[in-house]
Amino acid sequence: MTPSLRRKLAYCSFCGVNELAAVPLITGTGTAICVDCAKAGIAAVEGRRRRRDTSGRLTPSMLLARLDEHVIAQGAAKRALSVAVYNHFKRIGKIGAAERSQPSERPARLAKSNILMAGPSGTGKTLLAETLAVTLGVPFVVADVTSITQAGYAGEDTESIFRRLVTAADGDVAAAQHGIVFLDEVDKLAKREAGALDVSGEGVQQSLLKVLEGTEVSLATRSGADGPAGSEARRMDTSNILFIAGGAFVGLDEIVAERGNSRGIGFGARVVPDPETTTEAEPQDLISYGLLPEFVGRFPVVVQLEQLGLEELRRIISEPVDSLLAQYEELFRLDGHVLSFTEEALTAVAESAQSRQTGARGLRAILESTLLGLMFHSPDWDPGQRLVVEARHVTAAVAADSAMPAPTPASPQGEAQTSPSLSEAGPNREHTERRAPLPRVVQAVAPGRPV
Ligand code: ADP
Repeated sequence: MTPSLRRKLAYCSFCGVNELAAVPLITGTGTAICVDCAKAGIAAVEGRRRRRDTSGRLTPSMLLARLDEHVIAQGAAKRALSVAVYNHFKRIGKIGAAERSQPSERPARLAKSNILMAGPSGTGKTLLAETLAVTLGVPFVVADVTSITQAGYAGEDTESIFRRLVTAADGDVAAAQHGIVFLDEVDKLAKREAGALDVSGEGVQQSLLKVLEGTEVSLATRSGADGPAGSEARRMDTSNILFIAGGAFVGLDEIVAERGNSRGIGFGARVVPDPETTTEAEPQDLISYGLLPEFVGRFPVVVQLEQLGLEELRRIISEPVDSLLAQYEELFRLDGHVLSFTEEALTAVAESAQSRQTGARGLRAILESTLLGLMFHSPDWDPGQRLVVEARHVTAAVAADSAMPAPTPASPQGEAQTSPSLSEAGPNREHTERRAPLPRVVQAVAPGRPV
């Protein structure tokens, strides 16, 4: 971009995106904000409001209802998580104001209810934890435990998780102390083969034991700085933080099958099996898998997530609140167009994701490459186009793993038409004709006055 063009462009004052991007800019006197940052601002205000007033009123059934809005399938895991999270917040005194019948009665000490989720990659473990945090309005961080080093000399140290949690709480240590930490990839800490030298995974488990149980950690960085609020080293207590661990635990089912389902459960853990699966993982299986007994013992609730089938992947595209489909529809709506997929196209996306064996993780990439051509060209078209994506567009995009054969728009007044493939439409000529030169894009996207 030439310096003169750069000077004339309007920029979002928050994220710096310029008016050439697909995101619309709202311009004011000498300043501008993009729609994404405006939405993020509204979400932050709503999050703070929820943090103030909702966590004390949420029951397990309300939590489950919220999870159902965002997470497809995983019924048993959702139910178990709703109860465990409710109990956790009762334990830390944020829920449950019922009077005791005998004022002198000593309340039973409630144990921590950290949760371990075992299930294939891309089946919703992180999504479940994050949805709970958003619902409760508590700060949330994801920590990949494989990046934690035992002594903290390289990579992340255990304390850095809590510094990030304080940052997620806008520097509010008290709020961070009631937050949720998602420990991802805990299965990678397991010592898989007998006699194998795997001190690092074991060391990281050891270093996590205390914080899982509840201890004071320093918020000072290795260089001595305190992160968000200045140079004085602050401390925070991890006792009331809810830890949710997740891992794929590849091969765990074989351990479960070998053991059979008759063994007792160690460490007083309550295991919630999935009713639709015949196997039930128990803490003993996690120990056999290679995790330290003490580590497994810090997770009193173990839940299993199921592999997502074709039907579930298909539902994930369109059913959750702010589903992928809803997001893409919105993107096209902002350009004045109406995007739709045929049922067969949605099934083709799900089939392609299933063949990649990455759970729901592949859905976005498939949709992205399917819609890339359309997203490139449609801003140049007159508003009001109806854009119909068919199965063959999906298959072609997946095969090429590049821009789809862009469906041409149906007549705005007429019925939605099926879109010709690239070869039918004479792609080269059409593409050349439709690709507007950059200055025209600038005018079309940014009607506002440059800042
Ligand atoms: P993991 O189990 O590996 O933690 P994630 O929760 O990170 O998987 O999911 C990866 C992607 O797939 C996210 O975009 C998430 O929204 C989507 N996804 C995964 N499982 C589900 C599900 N059961 N329902 C809805 N979306 C899901």
